[in-house]
Order: sequence, then C-alpha cells, then structure tokens
Amino acid sequence: MAAVFLAATAATLQAEVALVPEKVAPLVADRQDFLPPDLVSLSGWVGRRIEVNEANRLVQLDTDRLLEGYRKRPGRQSYDGEHVGKWLHAATLAWVYTGDPALRKKLDFVAAELVKCQLPDGYLGTYLDKDRWTDWDVWAHKYNLIGLITYVRFTGNLEPLPACCRMADLLCSTFGDAPGKRDLIRAGHHVGLAPTSVLEPMVLLYRLTGERRYLEFCEYILRAWEQPNGPKIISTLLTAKRVDKVGNGKAYEMLSCLNGALEYYRTASDHRLLEACLNAWQDIVDNRLYLTGAASYGELFHDDFDLPNVDNVGETCVTVTWLQFNAQLLRLTGEARFADQLERVVLNQLMGAQKPDGSAWGYYVQMEGKKPYTSTLDGQCCLSSGPRGIALIPTFAVTTDPEGVVVNLYDTALARLSLHDGTPAAVDIEGAFPSDGHVRVRVDSTSRKPFMVKLRQPVWCTNTLVLVNGRVLEGPPVINGYLAITRSWHRHEVIELEFKLEPRVIVGDHLNEGKIALVYGPLVLAADEALLGFTNLSFKTVGVAEKPLPLLEFTPEPASNRFRTWPGAEVFRINGIVRRATGPLTAGERLPVRLVPFADAGATGGEYKVWLPVGLVATANLLFEAGESRSRKGNLYGSIADDDPSTLVTTFDGKPADEDWFALTLDEPATITRVVFMHGRTFHDGGWFDTSAGKPKVQAKSAADAAWETLGELADYPATTATDPAKLKGGEAFILKLPTPAKVLVLRVIGKPACGDNPKQAFSSCAELQAYKDK
Ligand SMILES: [Zn+2]
Repeated sequence: MAAVFLAATAATLQAEVALVPEKVAPLVADRQDFLPPDLVSLSGWVGRRIEVNEANRLVQLDTDRLLEGYRKRPGRQSYDGEHVGKWLHAATLAWVYTGDPALRKKLDFVAAELVKCQLPDGYLGTYLDKDRWTDWDVWAHKYNLIGLITYVRFTGNLEPLPACCRMADLLCSTFGDAPGKRDLIRAGHHVGLAPTSVLEPMVLLYRLTGERRYLEFCEYILRAWEQPNGPKIISTLLTAKRVDKVGNGKAYEMLSCLNGALEYYRTASDHRLLEACLNAWQDIVDNRLYLTGAASYGELFHDDFDLPNVDNVGETCVTVTWLQFNAQLLRLTGEARFADQLERVVLNQLMGAQKPDGSAWGYYVQMEGKKPYTSTLDGQCCLSSGPRGIALIPTFAVTTDPEGVVVNLYDTALARLSLHDGTPAAVDIEGAFPSDGHVRVRVDSTSRKPFMVKLRQPVWCTNTLVLVNGRVLEGPPVINGYLAITRSWHRHEVIELEFKLEPRVIVGDHLNEGKIALVYGPLVLAADEALLGFTNLSFKTVGVAEKPLPLLEFTPEPASNRFRTWPGAEVFRINGIVRRATGPLTAGERLPVRLVPFADAGATGGEYKVWLPVGLVATANLLFEAGESRSRKGNLYGSIADDDPSTLVTTFDGKPADEDWFALTLDEPATITRVVFMHGRTFHDGGWFDTSAGKPKVQAKSAADAAWETLGELADYPATTATDPAKLKGGEAFILKLPTPAKVLVLRVIGKPACGDNPKQAFSSCAELQAYKDK
C-alpha cells in the first residue's frame, strides 16, 4: 500500500526530484503519509523559519569544516563525525523544499567527498585504527547512513549507495552475538543507547536494498538491548512504563533508539515495539515534559515532575528527536494527539532554539536565562540537530491519508497533493496564525468522488467554529482528534475555522510552586528583559501581583519593529509587578509588563523567563540580590538570593570537606528577626548537611572585620547522616526565629556536607537564603 503511494507521489514531483523506491514494502501501512517536502510550501511564521534555516544556516555551513575529521583523522573532537551526516539529512530535505541549485551543488560535493574518505574495509568514522569502536564512531556511521540514504532517495543519485552498503556490511561483520564478534553495547556510550541507535538507518537500508542481512542485524540490536549489559529498552517500557528507568535515562540517545524501533515496527510489524513506544510517549507527556515541549535537563530523563527551569534544560538534540518520535507516531497511528505535540514543540521549543534569523542555534534552551545562540559546530551536537527539526516540518504540516487530506499545522501554506487514488488535490491555508485565530482552508480538486478533509482540533481550543462555503457546519464528526469533513470538493471550496485564541494561566506546581506561566493559543509566553523599558528595574523580580486573568488585563499588541520577526508578530501586555534593582527593598510597583512568544524570547540578547512569581509584594526578603559567596564553587551556578528556589547552587567539586557554608553580604547592615534556609537538592552522592554531629548553624557578622557570631541553629533540619538524607528531596525551607533582633552585614549557614553513596567526596546545596524583619 505504502509503496504504491510512494510511486504515485513520485510521479507528481518536479523533474529533478524522483524519490527512489524501496525494494521492500513495510508490513505496516502508514495511517498518515510522510510527504516529500516540495509538495507543501509554508509562508507564515513557521514558513519564514524554514526559509532562513536553509538560506542562513544550511547553505552557509563550511563544507571543509564538515569533512575535516574524515579527511584527516582523528577529528578535532570525539563526536565531530556526526555533523556531516546530520547536515546531509537536513540539507537534502531543505533542497527538496526549495529546489535551490546552490544547495544541490553543495550536497553533491559533500556526498561525493564523504564517500572518498571511506577506508577500504568500509569504515567511515573519524577515529584512528587503534581507537575504533570504543567511543562515538558507530554513532557517526549512523548519521552518515541517515544522511547518505536521504540524499540517495531524494536526489536519485545512486552513487553513494555502495558506500552505505560497505558501512553496513562492516557493522554486520564486526558486531553480533555469534562467537568471535564484538558486543555492540560496548561500542559506545550510555549503556549502549548510543551505538545501538544505528537501528534506524539499518532498517531504512534494508528496505531500500532488500538485503536481508541488514534486517538480521536489526534483530540482533533488539536482542542486544535486552542482554544483561544492555539498556533493557523494550522490557522496561512494557513493564515499568517509565523512560527514566531505561538504560541511564539519556534522552537524546534513547529517543534515537525509539525512532529506530518505530521504523522497525513499520517494516516487520512487531507490535511490542509500538506498545513500548506508546508507553514511552505517554510517560514523557504525563511526567517529564516542559510546557514548551522540551524533555530533559542535564540531558537525562529524571523523576516525575522533576523539571527545574535551569540546569542544562532542553537539549536541542532531544527536542529534535522528540519531534521525530511524534512524527513517526503520527504516521503510524493517524492520531491528532501526536500532531498536537508537534505543534507545541515546533512553535515553542524548536523555534525557541533557533535564532529568529536562522543563522545560529542554542544547545540548552532553558525556561529562563539567555538564549545561548552559537553558529560553530565545535563540541555542539545540537547545532547540527536543530536544522534537521526545521527541515522536517513540511513532511507533516499538511499531508494525505487513505481517506483524503489532513491539516496538522495552521501556518499559511499551499500544498499540492495527490490523493491515494492519484487524483490531484490542492490545499491552500490563509491567515496569520497563531496571531489570528481565523484560518481559511481552500480545497481544490477535480476528483469526482467525495473525500475527507481532516482538520486538527487543537488540544488548547475547546470550541472551534467551522464554516463551509460561508455556512456554519454544526457538529462535524471528530475522528482521531480531527474535525472530519467529507464531501465532493468542487473548485474553490472554502472551509473557515475560528479558533478562539485565549490567554490561559498555568499555575505552577512542584518546582514552580508560587509561580504562573501564561500561554496564548498554542504559544508559551515569556517575559523578556529587552521589553522592560526601565533600566532601574530588576528583571529577576518581574512577576504578577495575583493570578486571576481579569486582574492581569492581558492584551495582545502588534510587536514593535525590533521584535517583529514576522509580519504578524505580537507582544502581550499584562498588568505586572516589578521591584527596583537599587534603593530600598520594599514593595513592588505595578507596571505593564510585556511578554513575547518563547520562540522569540531573548532574541535580542536579553534575559527571559517563562515562570513568573506571584505576590512579590508580600515578601520583603532583606537579603534579596545580596552578594553571594560559598565555601566551594561547586558545579551548579544558580542564585540563593533571587527569591527563586528553582535556581540552586552546590559545593560539589569531587572532594571531601568537613565544613560547607553559603553566605550573603549586604551593602549596609540590616536588622533581622527571621532567617530562612532552603535546601537545594538531594543527589545520590550528597547535596545535604550531615547532622550526626549537630544541626546546621546560622552565623552573622555585623561588620566586615567583625568575628562570626552564631545566631542559632536550624532545629527543624531533619536527623540526617552522611549517607541518609532523611527524606529531604529539594526546596524544603527551614526557619530560625531570632529571640532578639540582630544587626547583620554578612549572614551564612554552615554545616557538614554529606557524601551519599560516594565516600570519596562530600557536598551540600542551597536554593535560597533569606532574612526578614517581622514586626
Ligand atoms: Zn545536543
């Protein structure tokens, strides 16, 4: 079925694009088709991002830099070999989309030059002989296969295909569970998640060539996952149903494996793999997904709702593999819930990682801070991943299925499609979505037979008004989350959709207790320092006085020139509250605060944040923004003086210590009556104070040259030991009420750090240190 459709599609492509057919038809037919990118042209906000991805990034990349690790082994960095394959994948899709001859020329050159670097035995990694198969070279072969197979299929240039087979044959002859072969799990990192993710292109190469040994290698990978030293991907997802329990929880490599598992399921119809992947998806959506569609911090999946706003949050490689995972599930099931996640991750986290002009990308794109845009590749896996995500958008934005056509994204677009019976159908989407909720979809077909147009009913919109040729359509059927309209589509049939774009308040929980985030339709909004407009105000304190929407006076406004990244760009004014950065730390002031879509936040270089504190006026923490110091620098660099417990610090340096302290220094002495210490986080190897020899103490100096004076101890701090945190998890507050007011210039909490399960070291952590003067 799918093979027949691919052949039908190929006939409608322009002359230079002829999709090379696969020799093996998948056993599982897709419920929604993967569309060659030249059939859909997007021209709204998303379309602009696709355009600059090609023009300012993919065409601009230096080809010598992409190839240098292969031309002169070893590469300058351990996983430097992955970039060229990722570029070939993204640039091929981008070239199909635009037809740009300059990009095609570059593609032909890079594909040919890469093949020239292959060694006689088929090896195409960046390592020296002595270092083969121990680090990131199976991984690089994976990306070279993905890149070259994509290039071969879309350009019709079969020249690199024998090189792909030689790479695959080398993998087949080197790795396996037969005697004398090497263990693939040991050929790379993260409990084998990295090397075994070569599953995806091995399945694709099997389908393209029909060579059964490649399928047998895939079967070996599935066995290796479950062997004693393997990551136990499928068994864990079928039983525990939690991604943080798979292997070491490394998100990018795991999602890469799951994308391969779905490709295998499509090919060989092993239903356990689909079930395992659906369990993984549900677990991520329910417990491990950020509002913007980011899905990891520190590059790992963590415990339920353990989603700090900073701490290497939102690796772009994870964002892109999560997008691919949803696109795979959408193709296989035809269910809109996966398209809803695609909209969420594309409009927020993915576009938030891409610099609006397309020239640079961010590695970790967090819920607050500054956007870390860079345009080099050195040590930056994400900078070659981001462009792949953007280049994939036209493959699922508007597509076809056995019943007709499907609209997944509402960006302005023109799609020239072929129905499964070969009849042409055009879908023209007009409007200024997501700034305007009024979307016109014109369907145009010569088909005499009725067919179905499916329009995604967005999860954020409870009630969509639908008109067909100007008449309200009452209660259209909803199939798999799509409004389904079946009729004979004569020329210029127009469907109008009225999505109610409304602001919604998301009340923070877990690590965002006491904060809110604002969303508008599909957009996650963020405060942006550059929109504050007053230099004597502290961006850190920007928040809201109370959370009910009417009091926030939410108002969309056209963006000013500086923030107009596309013609429909908007900013969103709310009734906010800000505290002065200098002067007396008393009450906050009510001021209009403007928010921007997360995708554009921080684009002018300033700080941004998604989660806004509520009720700032009530707190008058005298140590707010005081000077910070601690006994050891540690490895987390949040703040203990920003009234934000989600940004923490540690003293971790891999060494033991008998004493740790966290201190704040004021400009002028202040009188205080109450001290609040907030625990940072409990790690397996420490992070808390060991109280077996006494509770943590609060000490103060009244002048710079004065001696430390003990004001008291944190009596409520639990009875911990060096190895037992006594149920401390993170963010707990411990209070010392002073019997008499004290004048302090410097205040600190001091105690003995704990070692957890690693007695060779010890460290502690702190989320906040605050002091108040109660009446
Ligand atoms: Zn990365």
